[in-house]
Amino acid sequence: MSKGDTDPIYEKKLPFEDEIGKLSDSEAPKILTKELPGPESKKILDQLYKLETPTIVGANVLPVVWARARGATVEDLDGNKYIDMMGGVAVNNVGHSHPEVVRAMHEQAGQVAHTADFPSPARIRLLEKLTQIAPGDMKGQSRVAFAMSGSDAVETALKIAKYHTKRTEIVAFQGAYHGVTAGALALTTNRVYKRGLPPSIPGVHFAPYPYCYRCPFGKEFPDCDLECARYTGDLMTKSGMGLADRPATVIMEPVQGEGGYVVPPKEAVEWIAKVARENDIVFIDDEVQAGFCRTGRWFAIEHHGVTPDLLTAGKGLGGDFPVAAVIGHKKIMDNLPTVWNPVTFGGNAVGAAVSLKNIELMERYDLCTRSEVLGGYFMKLLKELESTSKIVGDVRGLGLMIGIELVKDKTTKAPMDMDKMMWLIHKMRDNGVLVLIAGRNENVVRLMPPLVITKEHIDKTFMIFSSILKELERSI
Ligand code: PMP
Repeated sequence: MSKGDTDPIYEKKLPFEDEIGKLSDSEAPKILTKELPGPESKKILDQLYKLETPTIVGANVLPVVWARARGATVEDLDGNKYIDMMGGVAVNNVGHSHPEVVRAMHEQAGQVAHTADFPSPARIRLLEKLTQIAPGDMKGQSRVAFAMSGSDAVETALKIAKYHTKRTEIVAFQGAYHGVTAGALALTTNRVYKRGLPPSIPGVHFAPYPYCYRCPFGKEFPDCDLECARYTGDLMTKSGMGLADRPATVIMEPVQGEGGYVVPPKEAVEWIAKVARENDIVFIDDEVQAGFCRTGRWFAIEHHGVTPDLLTAGKGLGGDFPVAAVIGHKKIMDNLPTVWNPVTFGGNAVGAAVSLKNIELMERYDLCTRSEVLGGYFMKLLKELESTSKIVGDVRGLGLMIGIELVKDKTTKAPMDMDKMMWLIHKMRDNGVLVLIAGRNENVVRLMPPLVITKEHIDKTFMIFSSILKELERSI
């Protein structure tokens, strides 16, 4: 679909379209160098590979040296310009280096930046705002604990759940990603991140995530009678399932992120949350990736009509500045002990000022609606590909959190080989689009651009992706 085309979904006029359009570099994609990475980028990468541990992900998967980024576009050190379909891994929801964010960062840094966990006015304003935008019954009824990163927010939430219930075991989901610190890593299921390590904490049990394209019970929704959710309910409450007692908590991503952008049926999430509520099990909603308008709502759990007990936030909250938090219902948070959870950098004043500005921009630009409308438009284009391509098994998503699961054969659903997936994302980069993969089999192309992306950049990405996909299809 080209620029002039009207699409019913897109006819809804989005606010601040002209201002938003100017945030990105309209020249992208533009590749100038013969090879990628270009000569200047190569020098930096050589240094990086010598000096940093090999454990880093980005440069090992997709070598790009970021020199400048604005809106939904990135420029590398050699002047090549890319459309950013990864948004700093679902972080830059208001776009890279938004001028007002940069100003807020600068102004706050000139006043006070670090306060340990002593209060600053910015911190208080952010606390107020977070409790206002908290989902469902948490709205106005919550307290916040700041954390250092998504992993740390998960760690804090686990700690709170254990303290509250006086129980210790945890139910998480197959395909989950919750981070890399000890507790969070124990709940993370991709073996790549666990290589060479013993189990980091005991008492973790995994339930089947409601993943309808590859139903763990071989059933089809809605005739399945929510077998996966019922199984999870039993795991949490019945003897004979492996737990010594009810778990302290069940932790769930409202849309599975690293697991392949899997959208669970609302009914399944409702069921799991209901069993948790009836059995005094803390329901942790991990919104680190799906939160802050990414899915078309402030928090993805709102699609499921569930109020969690604890919610973990990171990524899009701070955007260009690292900020993370646990938002929790007062019924739990009010009873936590005093002087219990010191976090040296948590609630940093610059981070608070930046987060406030991010939230203000999300509200002003109505980025939730923008994400829903542009995501719906993008999904419609991609769904057409699903119906015509032999290798697009499943297109799914909410808002601008879209996964395209590639298979070698649509009948057997054999996952596309990893080397082909790597070829695809490198080819996308060579054509000026930065994109990453996810999924239990690493066979899902994941689209998570800044929410300020323009329709024009979505159209360009779609054209580039379709033609590379055809090339891949011919090679199978
Ligand atoms: N939870 C979820 C759902 C995530 O997607 C991530 C990061 N991908 C994390 C937790 C961990 O966040 P961080 O990398 O900031 O520690």
